Amino acid sequence: MLTEREFKDIKEQLLKQIESFPPAQRESAKKKIEAMNAEELEQFLIQNNLIKKTDKCIFCLIAEGSIRSYKINENEEALAVLDINPISEGHTLAIPKEHKTIENSPKTLQLAHETSVILKKTLNPDEIKIESSTVQGHGVINIIPLYKNKKLERKKASEAGLRDLQEKITKKKEKLKKTEKERKIKIEELPKAPIRTP
Ligand SMILES: [Zn+2]
Repeated sequence: MLTEREFKDIKEQLLKQIESFPPAQRESAKKKIEAMNAEELEQFLIQNNLIKKTDKCIFCLIAEGSIRSYKINENEEALAVLDINPISEGHTLAIPKEHKTIENSPKTLQLAHETSVILKKTLNPDEIKIESSTVQGHGVINIIPLYKNKKLERKKASEAGLRDLQEKITKKKEKLKKTEKERKIKIEELPKAPIRTP
């Protein structure tokens, strides 16, 4: 992302450069440049090979903790965080911790499946949709709980809402883990009778 200073300087430079354009062209170019916000200007510079995109992608920034996120699950290779603009309650993104695609990170897929089970048990949706894609070279799996009678609609979630949901899901996850452990212990405690063959 361009800093405010860079944004101003680059805009000024561009406006100087177009002074040599024929008048008709100059006017429309000037209008376009002046209307651009920082993001659009950056895109314009990248498209015209005037700068190279070396900045880290948004998912790398989330993974390294530079962007605030609401983590609900994790394994050694991947993270599952709540989408801050969810299209349904519990909409979660599973992402590799490193900049790679889902094909190159089977553990992300595994985390997505585990997370969908936790979401199912916490929020009781009718169904859960799992979709993988790649954004700026970084793999991302959308885990979307689907509820009957509720249409999908992208909405900005409040910080408090996200925090509550994170807590609710994390608590359920811990509970599920505990039950799983207890179940394993019980199975191990079963007397080992010799297997009979008819
Ligand atoms: Zn990345």
